[in-house]
Amino acid sequence: MKVLKFGGTSVGSAKNINNVINILEDYSKNDSVICVVSAVGGITDKLLLAGKLAQNKDAEFLEVFNTIKKIHLNIVNELIPSNNNNVVEFVNQRLDELKSLLDGIFLINELSPKTSDKLVSFGELLSSFIIAETMKSRGLSAERKNSQELVVTNAVFTKAEVNYSITNKNIQDYFSSASQKITILPGFVSKSINGEQTTLGRGGSDFTAAIVAAALKVAQLEIWTDVSGMFTTNPKLVKQAYPINEISYQEAMELSHFGAKVLYPPTVQPVLDLEIPIYIKNTLEPDAAGTKISNDAIISNKPVKGISNIGNIALLTLEGSGMVGIPGFSKRLFETLSQEKINIILITQASSEHSICLGIETKDAEAAKEAIDATFENEIALHKIEPIIVEDKLSIVALVGDNMKNHQGISGKLFSALGKNNVNVRAIAQGASEKNISVVISENHVKKALNVLHEQFFESKTKQLNVFITGVGNVGERLVEQIKQQKKFLKENLKINLRVVGLSNSRKMIFDENGLNLKSWKEQLANGEQATLQGFFEKARDCNLRNSIFVDVTANKDVADLYPQYLRESISIVACNKIACSSDYINYKELKRLSLKYNAPFLFETNVGAGLPVIDTLSNLIASGDKVNSIQAVLSGSLNFVFNNFNDSTKFYDIVKQAAAEGYTEPDPRIDLSGVDVARKILILARESGVEMNLEDIENAPFLSESGLKSDTVDDFYQTLIVDESHYQSLYASAKANNCQLKYVAKFDNGKASVSLQEIPVGHPFYNLEGSDNIVMFYTERYPEQPMIIKGAGAGADVTASGLFADIIRLGND
Ligand code: ADP
Ligand code: ASP
Ligand code: MG
Repeated sequence: MKVLKFGGTSVGSAKNINNVINILEDYSKNDSVICVVSAVGGITDKLLLAGKLAQNKDAEFLEVFNTIKKIHLNIVNELIPSNNNNVVEFVNQRLDELKSLLDGIFLINELSPKTSDKLVSFGELLSSFIIAETMKSRGLSAERKNSQELVVTNAVFTKAEVNYSITNKNIQDYFSSASQKITILPGFVSKSINGEQTTLGRGGSDFTAAIVAAALKVAQLEIWTDVSGMFTTNPKLVKQAYPINEISYQEAMELSHFGAKVLYPPTVQPVLDLEIPIYIKNTLEPDAAGTKISNDAIISNKPVKGISNIGNIALLTLEGSGMVGIPGFSKRLFETLSQEKINIILITQASSEHSICLGIETKDAEAAKEAIDATFENEIALHKIEPIIVEDKLSIVALVGDNMKNHQGISGKLFSALGKNNVNVRAIAQGASEKNISVVISENHVKKALNVLHEQFFESKTKQLNVFITGVGNVGERLVEQIKQQKKFLKENLKINLRVVGLSNSRKMIFDENGLNLKSWKEQLANGEQATLQGFFEKARDCNLRNSIFVDVTANKDVADLYPQYLRESISIVACNKIACSSDYINYKELKRLSLKYNAPFLFETNVGAGLPVIDTLSNLIASGDKVNSIQAVLSGSLNFVFNNFNDSTKFYDIVKQAAAEGYTEPDPRIDLSGVDVARKILILARESGVEMNLEDIENAPFLSESGLKSDTVDDFYQTLIVDESHYQSLYASAKANNCQLKYVAKFDNGKASVSLQEIPVGHPFYNLEGSDNIVMFYTERYPEQPMIIKGAGAGADVTASGLFADIIRLGND
């Protein structure tokens, strides 16, 4: 004989009930089966809602009642399309009783726990009847037995305790003479010794099934639900969660106690001593292996078996010097809560005995505070202890595994993974048996915390990076294309799962928490929502995904101004926008401080030399204890392009226009030609070398004509290039006469920096610099005479995009 339990979703529609019937028919070919059923999915909640509305004198309860009625009658009509008068009549009678009960609640304005149990019992009583009748109508040997006649409890309504001696005897007596192949039992419902209707607590149908399985000492208990087993963590919150094949009773109990709703916590207890294995199976996917819960679960190498979470937690903190060394203090505290029937989920006490923290359900918080403050009234009045502090909107996340005690460093990994992602831990508890480590965190961090921990303990091999890109012009577009192309490679070779979650240009923005499909990003973006910088930030913050990275591919000050907000949310920043790092020194320093404080790297390799590893190299030199003496560099790909192509047979205007068209200049070419762009770059290198400096401190001898420097608009500026052609030709002529090349050079020496156009003689390392190449020479204590030289293409969309990409991957290897 086997006991199978089918939950709310499994019996949530006519289609699913047909699945259940098929499974039962199959099983009953070889053996007799007992089937415990829940109420039709969602009905218990609706019954309670109708009761609450009626209690509050809200006539809307009638609408909820009508929905309940419709759902049941529709299911009956679908399952038994003809000759169903008797069944419909019975269902209608029960519904009439339900209606009278609700009318009564409405009338007297009261819903006691006792009435509540009567009310919710309708759910299981109806579903079990309909299912049994359907089976009979199909010629199966099926009977329904009301479990209220079998399961006897005390009179603690809404969560009654079972009287096993009477219950076991009832069950054994009934089944010793039952001749049907299939018995349908309503789960969850029971009666007190005095015959009042009671229930076993929300989710209690699992428990009914376990009670029956234990009373009859059957070979196995099967819990059929809407997921394929007990998962490594809640599959609704973590996509990567997967079913656990085998798990011990203890582990299953811990996981369910800490919120793995798939199994009602008391379920294990009746079958534990008898060693009846529990299988968790999926009604919607009957062939999936599911989970076996038993004592033979092999202790696996994995220390953590699963991670679970419970919401609606309040933390009570009792503090005060008067607590130290007073015997009986905890006893009084716990007795107070026990008298109020308040369940304590978690306890921690500081070793100083100075404070004690309790995790309880939020709904009990007010009553708990009142009762505890009353108990310790005297001590509070004498200032020996403080009035109790209550914090709510919290959740508990628990790591569970029998084998955790044999592994060191699990809590360390737990805290560092949470810390890195800015999840603040409010309290910690670790069972002495070390089967469980629980932390209390804010409830809006739960999804992120579960994902972070799941990645840490179950998928440590891949790291997920969640990228939000602003600015998809020339460079941004290349970056998205490079990510699309390399996604598979990164996953397979670097174990990095790189997902673009948000994309924005100045007009539109799009998001997908599961990662955008990059095949059609342009179309999606064209149809996106209206973009705002603040809106983009808020969305990135609210997604609250681990390892979030904001990528700034603009040259916009307003975007740079938002960096502090991102960093404070522990969202890392990768920027090719130079504005932040070349802004006021105080601002630059503040960004560095926030980055450290919130554990969110701020990378800007592409600020200097596009994709060339200039800043990374410099940081490595500094980090390893070297000191920069001087830097000499050609840092403007655009100016290099201009002066490499400009001569006495070309026009300065044409060359600048060409540089702009090929994407070598900033959108406003004056930023390059005035030397400001180069000044910003040498400023950043000076700062990264450890020097406090501002843009005004950099000597800038401009080469532009007077009118070029004064022009108001980009168009005006271009006009001056035509008018002042002779000015530029004279610069060229002088260099040619001296057998030199014109290069725009940045210098940092002795704490001072300058930028200027220079005539570079033959033989100098800058002389042969081609195209848009950059060169940086670092003279340091370790490289005093022969400098460390970095040279290569220093402008262009592709190389800049790959520099950004390299920064993103750097975060993946963190
Ligand atoms: P039923 O109605 O069949 O009793 P429940 O809703 O009570 O089903 O329990 C199944 C649900 O439990 C799943 O749909 C899932 O959302 C939730 N759940 C939470 N944690 C876990 C976990 N670790 N493994 C599987 N399911 C879980
Ligand atoms: N129907 C009850 C509930 O929703 C019992 C159960 O489904 O296990 O809590
Ligand atoms: Mg359940």
